[in-house]
Parts: sequence; C-alpha cells; structure tokens
Amino acid sequence: MKPYLKTTPNADGFFGEFGGAMLPPPLIPHFAEIAAAYEKLSKSAEFMNDLRYIRKHFQGRPTPISHLKNLSEIAGGAQIYAKREDLNHTGAHKLNHCMAEGLLAKHMGKTKLIAETGAGQHGVALATAAAYFGMECEIHMGAVDMAKEAPNVTRMKLLGAEVVAVTEGAQTLKEAVDSAFGSYVAQADHALFGIGSVVGPHPFPMMVRDFQKVVGIESREQFLDMTGELPDVIAACVGGGSNAMGLFSGFFDDEGVEISGVEPGGTSSKLGDHAATLTYGQPGDIHGFRTKLLVDDQGEPAPVNTLASGLDYPGVGPEHAYLQETGRVNYTTADDKEALKAFYDLSRHEGIIPALESAHALAFAMREAKNYKGKSILINLSGRGDKDLDYVTETYGFGA
Ligand SMILES: *Cc1c(COP(=O)(O)O)cnc(C)c1O
Repeated sequence: MKPYLKTTPNADGFFGEFGGAMLPPPLIPHFAEIAAAYEKLSKSAEFMNDLRYIRKHFQGRPTPISHLKNLSEIAGGAQIYAKREDLNHTGAHKLNHCMAEGLLAKHMGKTKLIAETGAGQHGVALATAAAYFGMECEIHMGAVDMAKEAPNVTRMKLLGAEVVAVTEGAQTLKEAVDSAFGSYVAQADHALFGIGSVVGPHPFPMMVRDFQKVVGIESREQFLDMTGELPDVIAACVGGGSNAMGLFSGFFDDEGVEISGVEPGGTSSKLGDHAATLTYGQPGDIHGFRTKLLVDDQGEPAPVNTLASGLDYPGVGPEHAYLQETGRVNYTTADDKEALKAFYDLSRHEGIIPALESAHALAFAMREAKNYKGKSILINLSGRGDKDLDYVTETYGFGA
C-alpha cells in the first residue's frame, strides 16, 4: 500500500470531494504561483535544511513527550502522554507553519507577510516569523477582537507588525478574512498570504499539514524510544485542524493506532452553542474550498461558541472532512466543562498550564482512559495556557 501522505490530496488539491480552490479570478494566478513554488521547494534540499536549522536553533525543537503519571493514576486506566507543543517558541504549534510560510516567502522573493487573525494567536506567530526573516507584516483583525485580545495586539506591534483594525460588519474573524484577502490581491507581487491552519484554498491545507507533520514524525520516534511500542490511541483538538493533522500525520500508516479528533462541544449540542463542525455540520463551501460547515437555516455560516477562542470557527480543514468519511479518524467532542476541568487538573497535578484548546484533547484522554486499561493515549498539547489565565481565573476562579 502507498503511504497515505503521498497519495493525498490529488493534484487539484482534493481530499475525496473536499478541498480544491474556488477562487475569485484575481486570486487565481497568485495561488497558482504559490502552489508551483511549494511544489519545487518541497523537493529542495536547501529549503528543507533551512527549515531544519530554524526548528532546532530558533523554535527549540524537538519538543519532548511527557508521561502524565499523576493524571493517568487519577483517570484510572490508560497511561496518558502529552506531546509538548506548548514548549515550542511563542508557546504553541502555530509557529511550525508560520516559520515555514516565512521561509517560503523568502525563497519566492517576497518581502511581506499578510494574514487575518481572530484571537490574535496566528497574528503573533506570523509576526514572529516576519521579524525573524526581516520582512514586513500586515495583520487584519476585527475591531471587536482587538479590544478583547489586547495583549496579542501589543505583541504583534512589538514584533513590528502593522495591525489593521477591521470595522465592517460584526468586526470579527469573517470580516478580517475579507479585508486581508483584499489587501493581499493589491500587493501579491511582493507579499505572501499566510494562512493560519489547514484551511483555505489549495495548496494551503496540504502545505500547512506538511509543515506541521514534524509534530507527528517526532512523536512516533520519541514514543517508540520511551516505551518500545506505538501509542494505542492518539488525540488532538480540532479547530481548523492543523495541530491535529500534525500529530496524525506521523501515524496514518500504522493501522493499529486509533486516531481521534476532539471538537469543542461548548455548552450544548444546540446550533450556536458549540463549534463542533464535523460532529454536527454538513458539506458546504467557505472561503474558497469545500468542507463541512455549521450553517443556519438560511445556509449562512452559523455562530459558534466555545471557551477556547482558537477553536472558534464554523468550518474545518477539508482533510478532516475526508478522514471522517473514510473512517480513519473518529471525531468526537469535549464540552466547556470537561475542558475546564482538564485545564485545572493538568495545572495542579502535573505542573503544566495548558491552552484551553489543548485542554479539550486532554479531557478526551481523561474520559476515555478507563476504556483503555493497560493501553496508552498520546495527546497533542498544542499550546500553553498563559493567554487564558486571566479569563479562566476571573470567570471561574481557581478550580475545586
Ligand atoms: C490556534 C490553536 C488551536 C487550533 O488550531 P488548529 O488549526 O485546529 O490546530 C489549537 N491549540 C492552540 C494552542 C492554538 O493556539
């Protein structure tokens, strides 16, 4: 059998019926240029060597795997392990693809990175890459989000980025995407668009997956080294789906390894109360690609709700929609309450304060552990929780 990653997606960027590139005409040549450049560079030894150097000497890779002994005991069943992407420079997995996008821009002769950001995490990671490569950076952010996420706006500005306040419509992520694309079209001769997850038109879902797969490759080697075996179950939280694709990519061809994606269940299964796209959504098109979506009864992207702002998206990467359909990955949810409990438990019993996003993957492991006695579960701890401290403690206190 051919290795999974070599055969997916097809040449047009389709994962089964999902993915592709449905672009307005002015964007078509620019995405074709990106696809052609990536096709060439992904086979270039110089590009890969540059990327390896950056990962080791700037990002601090490889990140370790930690055995969560105390939590395993509390959960009572499987041994739980965590891949520590919280220890990546800037505190999350996002830098893995942002540094690679910066390097791609540099090899393409571009001098500027442009993107939108919701909660600001992607903006900070891309601004970090721009600073490293000596490039300009322009981040579009809804004015409402800017007020909510002021520390990230400060970080982006310190890193030298121009933060463009978007004041159209609801002044949040959707309007920021439109604004950023508009600005990119006008500057595409010298700028690269930096997408923040395994979403968007081809080649981004494939490219961002490839840039994140270092997480899975390291994990497989490290886990074998630690335990002499592969994990029985691996799991990651799914917003757009990049940290999940990163971890999963190391294990697709290991048939004995069960793979789970954990979506944010929010406060209930009612539309508007969660952001669990694969669990409750339906096929549809958004931002230039086909995937599964949460839509309202008018067919418009539905409002979503989760206490983890990084999982707050009514769509999902097209490859996840495909992997759900083939059955290779099981998708399930963890709700706000479970994630919050996991956040407190990991802090108190293991000395690791996780991002609320990552706490969803841990909540899954804590819940499922008793069904996997004598087995092992490896989760991707996608980021650290510093950004969530004020919100959690001011809203919920310090835990039971
Ligand atoms: C942004 C973010 C996520 C969600 O993004 P994916 O593309 O689904 O990985 C998860 N965890 C952290 C820490 C994040 O910052």
